[in-house]
Amino acid sequence: MKAIYEKSVTVLGSTGSVGTQALDVARSQNIKVDAISGATRIDILEEQIREFSPSVCAVLSEYKAKELAVRVADTDCRIISGYEAIVDLAGRGISDAVINSITGKAGLRPSLAAIEAGTSLALANKETIVCAGELVNKAAAENNVKILPVDSEHSAIFQCIGDSRHEDISKVILTASGGPFYGKRREELKAITPEMALAHPTWKMGPKITIDSATLMNKGFEVIEARYLFDMPADKIEVIVHPESIVHSMVEYIDRAVIAQLSCPDMRLCVQYALSYPNRCTGTLKPLDLTEIGSLTFKSPDYGTFKLLKLAYEVLERGGNLGAALNGANERAVALFLEERISFTDIMDLVCEAVDKIRFIAKPTLDDIEETDIISRELIDELSGSKVSD
Ligand code: MG
Repeated sequence: MKAIYEKSVTVLGSTGSVGTQALDVARSQNIKVDAISGATRIDILEEQIREFSPSVCAVLSEYKAKELAVRVADTDCRIISGYEAIVDLAGRGISDAVINSITGKAGLRPSLAAIEAGTSLALANKETIVCAGELVNKAAAENNVKILPVDSEHSAIFQCIGDSRHEDISKVILTASGGPFYGKRREELKAITPEMALAHPTWKMGPKITIDSATLMNKGFEVIEARYLFDMPADKIEVIVHPESIVHSMVEYIDRAVIAQLSCPDMRLCVQYALSYPNRCTGTLKPLDLTEIGSLTFKSPDYGTFKLLKLAYEVLERGGNLGAALNGANERAVALFLEERISFTDIMDLVCEAVDKIRFIAKPTLDDIEETDIISRELIDELSGSKVSD
């Protein structure tokens, strides 16, 4: 087993919130960065190329890639471009681990490519599991690949489980900050603007996941993620609101002992543990001072107002292609909300309607997943269009 500083990584989505924090870990642990990828932000990619000297950088935008290639012509980094280039990079097998911090369903094929190449996958892209949990688990088993969770709740559960036997676990308890609108009623949510929803109380994250946190869709996705990462049925996955974001999640065992993982909220711990697992190493996190925090509080989620969390449980019960439908519909609805074309409560209503309308496929192939994703996005456009003309 290699020590963390002997490892090398490919960081997909390196310009995003988790991606830049993954590179912070690479910097503090002296980890070699083989490759990076980003969508359009070439200023950040250029800085990262100069600091970490990856041999290759994939850029989603062909146009931006050309500009970046000119800017870094004095380095040894090769610039490749387009979505297929990112998938290809993930599947090259050049690193000890691929850290997937791409946002949205675009992360699915790079995840599968890494797994098929037999590379450990440090997974921050929860949509990979939400869209295709069953296919991803099957591919991981066939290729003997361990999926290492980077999502903070799942990293916590992973840490709490340790070497315990699966049959000894009675349930997992995901904590949720509750987002900025906990306690608000539906009427009060109608006037929420993107600016208000983007101000998350405890975690600093990218725009898409911040909106998902405000609607609790993010927690719904995490319930689905827990189902597939830890092989737990829906009725053994509980969500509890914990506004301080200090307890990152808990595991209850059959003897009623509950093991929790606590730390200051910082994604760097999650990335670092995924890379140091099963060992630990010193990092840059500040020590947790519970006397400074004073008290930790826990409440029940409001499933009535935040109905996407409830919908996620229903989707999980039925399985099939519904995870892909839920994700596709939500991604499109969040984009429309950020463009101020629909309201905050429309996100929840439209996603519920779209998932209800999608044709159910019990055993979807990857093609079925892709098609479901497209149709669910189109449904959101249709349904929101009809709303406007009403
Ligand atoms: Mg999370």
